[in-house]
Amino acid sequence: MNSDPNQTIFQYQRILEISRRLTLEQSLDSLLNAIVDAAAEISGSEAASILLYDEPNQRLHFQAATNMGAESLRGVSVPTDSLAGWVAINRAPVVVPDVNQDKRWFGDIKSKSSGFITRSLVALPLVARDRLIGVLEVLNKIEDLYDQSDLELLQVLGAQAALAIEQTRLYQQSDMIAELVHELRTPLTSIGTIAYLLQRSELSEAERLSLAKTVQQETLRLSNLSSSFLDLARLEAGRVGLSISDVELSGLIEDCLEIIRPEAEEQQLTIQFQPQANLPSIRGDQNQLKQVLLNLLTNAVKYNRPQGKIEISLAALDNGVTVSVSDTGIGIPPEQSQHIFEKFFRVNNQETTQRTGTGLGLSICKRIIENHGGRITFHSVSGQGTTFTIVLPVLG
Ligand code: ADP
Repeated sequence: MNSDPNQTIFQYQRILEISRRLTLEQSLDSLLNAIVDAAAEISGSEAASILLYDEPNQRLHFQAATNMGAESLRGVSVPTDSLAGWVAINRAPVVVPDVNQDKRWFGDIKSKSSGFITRSLVALPLVARDRLIGVLEVLNKIEDLYDQSDLELLQVLGAQAALAIEQTRLYQQSDMIAELVHELRTPLTSIGTIAYLLQRSELSEAERLSLAKTVQQETLRLSNLSSSFLDLARLEAGRVGLSISDVELSGLIEDCLEIIRPEAEEQQLTIQFQPQANLPSIRGDQNQLKQVLLNLLTNAVKYNRPQGKIEISLAALDNGVTVSVSDTGIGIPPEQSQHIFEKFFRVNNQETTQRTGTGLGLSICKRIIENHGGRITFHSVSGQGTTFTIVLPVLG
């Protein structure tokens, strides 16, 4: 136990200060980072991490960590029979002075992903308004052993942290909902106007058909908008973990090419892709990575010009792989390029707006790639073409 009362008062004052700071964090990512930093500091630990609870899938996955390769851990799910799983299911904390003596210790997922070796830990559930938000863990006490006073301090911090996470998620959701409602207005107005026009008897059969086609397109746009919106909202709330397996990118690209080929042929586009047999397979979420590749390829078709070209290249890096998708299309004007990954953003010119889209695809891609510890960038020459490049690390 910590017997020095002055030291304890100092630590509680520190928590108060930290809690005030937590309420000021704007994004979920920076809030989670602030929480793990604070948890490691007040408990005198080498490292700390937060696992968020994915309620629909009933899974826990790493979302932020200090000092142990946060990027390589992000999104990785942990089994329910692990220590963190036990904490979540029982909604009770654990203090483990030596992990190797604890039956619930399932081996170190962190050491596999990041080389970090855990010796001791405290883990506690993060609960706000009776809902499980996640699990906070601190690892490897720097001096002596974890005891009850560490747990008490962490519980005070944990209660504040859980509330702050819930608040931030609510703010984010209401911001996003406001943007969504704004985006819904245009298709809804156009469907409403067409419904009114269709009731007029003087319309020719051809006009009627053309209006009906517009309704069909606008309905499709609404449906794409709602499913992309849901995908992004779940990713932003940290509710989507990664189902990690070996992913063979060449094959995945071939699958995506099959899907886009009919549309590409209609526009007489040439597709160039050399599958790479010797490329190392990477560890990642197959479905999510397919969604990213499909989005980039769909954009390369959509924003291309008739008889244009699409080139996909794959290469091995020291510790990962890089994929790039180039097109010879309309390009992105330099003055708008800093907004490309913002949600709902579409380039504001006629060439773009005459092609349908939601402005959500690239935000989803960025989230997914960053959750894999990777990066997505682009290079574009207005009027000539664009190349999007993804770099993915090989997860352990
Ligand atoms: P959208 O559904 O509008 O295509 P995205 O999020 O996928 O949404 O892309 C956002 C915007 O970025 C697009 O509206 C377009 O203006 C621009 N963009 C994306 N990919 C390309 C590309 N390959 N060539 C030109 N512009 C692109």
